[in-house]
Amino acid sequence: MDNPTYIILLGAPGAGKGTQAEMLRERVGLAHISSGDLFRENVSKQTPLGKLAKSYMDKGELVPDDVTIQMVMDRIARPDCARGVVFDGFPRTEAQAKALDDALAKEGKRIGAVLLVSVRDELLIQRLTARWVCPTDGAVYNLLSNPPKVAGRCDRDGSPLEQRNDDKPDTVRRRLAVYSTQTQPLIEYYRAAGLLREIDGERDIEKVQLDVVKAVETL
Ligand code: ADP
Ligand code: ADP
Repeated sequence: MDNPTYIILLGAPGAGKGTQAEMLRERVGLAHISSGDLFRENVSKQTPLGKLAKSYMDKGELVPDDVTIQMVMDRIARPDCARGVVFDGFPRTEAQAKALDDALAKEGKRIGAVLLVSVRDELLIQRLTARWVCPTDGAVYNLLSNPPKVAGRCDRDGSPLEQRNDDKPDTVRRRLAVYSTQTQPLIEYYRAAGLLREIDGERDIEKVQLDVVKAVETL
């Protein structure tokens, strides 16, 4: 892998994108860019971007494209992205996908693969409502499938875990609807570009991980 590798993890909320992206960061050394995490950092620091984003996030709606694209472009320019990036939760609209293509093309770079992680809605709802996260380092756990070693505490730094505000059942349903209308069209967008690889996301984290690593290593 001499040239930087750009991987997109595409999939509904709860599909396991963040879990797999974090593993790629640790095992393959790619920078993990999660637009949701970037927004949450801004919300907790109460920046103007955070205040704007919060009003959309609380409702389960997408933050407008212009600010989202700008935020991710600033992040890609940071030095830890030199070896490559795994995008998690971005792009989520066709405008975002085109902006990313254009930005990479300007530097003679391109996306290597788009991994579509598929999981049925019933399972997504179950996963999201049992998701607990570390507010300090963003580590993600699941009460049912991926519990922390000590109940309620982050394995990495011991912080008390929290539930995300938008993992309430009503907001989860809204987010799934938003995914199907605004983000699902990207499946055809990337299939047409010859970049799409489909991964069954309903299996254990480790099994999904094997497929994800294989897809990245065979690029
Ligand atoms: P999940 O991991 O459950 O898919 P995220 O953490 O990616 O959720 O996103 C949480 C919220 O942040 C979204 O519901 C949306 O309001 C906002 N958000 C994250 N990424 C984007 C994006 N690429 N475009 C617009 N809004 C986004
Ligand atoms: P996303 O970033 O796509 O919203 P996450 O990686 O945050 O998804 O995963 C959603 C929840 O499901 C988390 O609680 C996580 O621990 C759990 N999870 C992730 N992958 C799997 C899997 N393959 N099987 C069961 N639970 C999973």
